[in-house]
Amino acid sequence: MTDSSVSSGLKPVPRPGVMDAPIYVPGTHIDESGGDVAILSANENPAGASPMAVDAAGEAAKGLHRYPDGGSVALRQALGELHGLDPDRIICGAGSDELITFLIRAYAGPGDEVLYSQHGFAMYKITALTVGATPVAAPETDLRTDVDAILSMVSPATKLVFIANPNNPTGSYLSRDEVAKLARDLPGNVILVLDAAYAEYVSRNDYGAGEDLVDQYPNVVMLRTFSKIYGLASLRLGWGYGQPDVIGAMNRLRSPFNVNVPAQLAGLAAVRDQAFVEKSRTDNERWLGWMTAQLTELGLHVPPSVGNFVLAGFADEETANRASAFLEGRGIVPRKVGGYGLPTYLRITVGLERECRMLVDGLKAFLSEESGS
Ligand SMILES: *Cc1c(COP(=O)(O)O)cnc(C)c1O
Repeated sequence: MTDSSVSSGLKPVPRPGVMDAPIYVPGTHIDESGGDVAILSANENPAGASPMAVDAAGEAAKGLHRYPDGGSVALRQALGELHGLDPDRIICGAGSDELITFLIRAYAGPGDEVLYSQHGFAMYKITALTVGATPVAAPETDLRTDVDAILSMVSPATKLVFIANPNNPTGSYLSRDEVAKLARDLPGNVILVLDAAYAEYVSRNDYGAGEDLVDQYPNVVMLRTFSKIYGLASLRLGWGYGQPDVIGAMNRLRSPFNVNVPAQLAGLAAVRDQAFVEKSRTDNERWLGWMTAQLTELGLHVPPSVGNFVLAGFADEETANRASAFLEGRGIVPRKVGGYGLPTYLRITVGLERECRMLVDGLKAFLSEESGS
């Protein structure tokens, strides 16, 4: 018997761009069953999820043989009620990552440009590459998204602009007015994606997640997630809000049962437990402030953050890498952000009080060892 696929020398070749895309490197996780560790690498909610959401996910285990409601109807209804939005203009996804993929697949291909901010969330670039589109990064000023820089880089090939607001990993945010200017000045054929994964954490009067801009402009989409303040990262659940044409395009790329039953039921229970969200927000605010002050006092550069994480800047890349290894040796896991063009920084999630104290003690020990050597 001959093996024709081998003898012919033919082999399958992925579409242009696929093999150019780097594989996303997630924050490190370590075994936490043993106790005194602090996983501060993935911006997860250190308090877990609402007990009601945990119960709902458990209940869902009784029906694992049934397909989900493909339209996530009850969940979209609850989200619509909570945020005052039309559920028909909401789409649910397996994490907001999946919704980013739908948007890029729907609107970009070879020859098109996908524009984002210099230190913007990694998935915009990675996903653009997978469809053969050209990723374009606009420079930032002081680790902040620069609306004028973005506008100046829009070309006839630009199909989508992605803004994480607040941005990960910098923690900075754009005001409602700055985002409104971007929405107003972008050409109407360019999709503006407002990725508001950390919106619930922000308590600034001049911040908005962008629902109002979606209502005003047919090319604006807002993305949200259950992975951060809701503490449901493992279930993979996110949602988007846009005008009917955009949501219609995304729904055509959605597989029929993209959001599983445990995710839908836990998401629904989580939406109904806003007390949990509120407590997570106030706890974060307290320990974010504390961590920022402590790390700054240690001489590290900590840009102001409105999220549930901070950047901590060291003298140079080698010192940042040594700090990361030192902390990991003590069971404290930060996130390296060299991949985001920030090799002298580590990103650190705001943990529980115990974890924040472990982190600060760890960095104190590291810095005194460094100055002694
Ligand atoms: C964490 C994060 C997401 C959320 O991803 P999921 O796929 O919903 O878990 C989206 N955007 C940004 C900027 C993030 O930091």
